[in-house]
Amino acid sequence: MRNLDFKYNLIDPDVDKDSAYVLPQQFDIDVLHYLIRISLYPEKKEIGGDVTISAQILHTTNSVYLNFYDNLVIDSLFFNQQAVKYERSEKNLKVTSDKVLNPSDTVSIRVVYHGSPKNLGFSSFVFGEVNDISMVSTLSEPYFASTWFPCNDRPDDKALMDMYITSDSVYTSISNGKLMEVSVKDSLKTFHYKTFYPITPYLICLYSSKYSHFSETYVSAEQDTMPIDYYAIPKHLEYAKKDFAGHAKMISFFAKLFGEYPFIKEKYGVAEFLWEGGAMEHQTITGIGTSFVKGKGRYEEIYVHELSHHWFGDCVSPRSWKDIWLNEGFATYCEALYIEQVYGKEQFESKMQTLKLPVFSGTVYDPQYNMFSPTIYYKGGWILHMLRFEVGDSVFFSILREYFNTYKYGSASTQDFITVAEQLSKKDLSQFFDQWLYKPSNIITATYTWKTEEFVEKDSLYSVRITLKQTQTDYSCFHFPVNIEWFFDERTPIEKTRVYIDKPEQSFVFVFKHKPQSVMVNPHLDILGEFTETQ
Ligand SMILES: [Zn+2]
Repeated sequence: MRNLDFKYNLIDPDVDKDSAYVLPQQFDIDVLHYLIRISLYPEKKEIGGDVTISAQILHTTNSVYLNFYDNLVIDSLFFNQQAVKYERSEKNLKVTSDKVLNPSDTVSIRVVYHGSPKNLGFSSFVFGEVNDISMVSTLSEPYFASTWFPCNDRPDDKALMDMYITSDSVYTSISNGKLMEVSVKDSLKTFHYKTFYPITPYLICLYSSKYSHFSETYVSAEQDTMPIDYYAIPKHLEYAKKDFAGHAKMISFFAKLFGEYPFIKEKYGVAEFLWEGGAMEHQTITGIGTSFVKGKGRYEEIYVHELSHHWFGDCVSPRSWKDIWLNEGFATYCEALYIEQVYGKEQFESKMQTLKLPVFSGTVYDPQYNMFSPTIYYKGGWILHMLRFEVGDSVFFSILREYFNTYKYGSASTQDFITVAEQLSKKDLSQFFDQWLYKPSNIITATYTWKTEEFVEKDSLYSVRITLKQTQTDYSCFHFPVNIEWFFDERTPIEKTRVYIDKPEQSFVFVFKHKPQSVMVNPHLDILGEFTETQ
């Protein structure tokens, strides 16, 4: 998700804790497949649903617990094809079997229902209009998928999916995965999408409107081809052709950096939808708010961000919402990596500068309901940037590749990422991650002084001492490497030195052939800090 200006946040205090939403018993099952049939009735703002969930039992039980908002009316419910008892609370559904369910049993739960879905969170289910034309769209992240279909709404419980969307035949309906078939019956059109890779409930989406469709082709390094499908409202078609261009190049960039685009048997795509906060990385079909499609090519970074989530977020999903920085910090840094590659070092540094805020409230790990704040996006991105500086480029990119490769099509925790980083760098990174991820620390602030201490005439050498002092008040002593650049007269090249800081105040002595005229600490923004020279 990319939320421009962070204007939007979760607003419903009752649903902002996933602990209250996901019950412990929901860890007793592993969903294998969702068969979702949704009929849309935009005039009535209602849906009809027929969802069959196939799941494997992990722990002995006689009940299966799911998420499902109780404003939707259940018309019938079947457990292994039998009508059974069920109980509901506001957000949960408990289905009880008449026999004991044992580990490795596979069960099916079919729920037939109808009603008007609540629109919670960012825009979990919206019946809207664009230029007087009906549009229906969803955005379920983080825990609102069950406002429109029953599911085990944990980010780590992935399953395969078949989605059938039925609406009036004037509308094009879109979902995740590959379009298998479009069938017409009377005045209704049904679109069948199928996933060949697992998907987590919060990434399951639908969009339906009078879309104009256009496409291009991605060709992989192995010469496999895949469609990139674009869906714009008719009035925006020419704008969309300009704004959406360039995705094939972006996919190639990330495929080369991290490993092949992980949904290559399906598609990538972008569709306009009804969340005007920004964009959302719905697996294989990113949604972009209609107000961002202007034909000016201004929002390239948003498209890069959402595409990069297909590696980090969609293919490797967070184990829990405590690990949300593994999505958003990564996608933010991927924006910067793309800028570095396409526009060069200087633009890359100015991007990192925009991600440097003087204050970052809360922690990056487990931010509670503050999941979509600059702390997660910007500081999360900075953590990767500083890790790169700590371990060096080649180890850093091997860490990202190894992490992706190890956890692809599954989920990973923050500790899983740290373990990969430590194994590949052969370094103890506990201090690094503790100070940046787990502590509610802001940025480093430090002052420094320097002076030429002596001139050794015989050898024409200058001895120079620099003293750095950490002055931030919320964290006593950061440990970090930092570059220092020394400037001499115009004819003498810059000297670069690197020191490792692990004390609140520390001095270093360097010997140069010339007398330094000036000095810069952290000149290329390797470290999230503000370094000021004092006398
Ligand atoms: Zn994002």
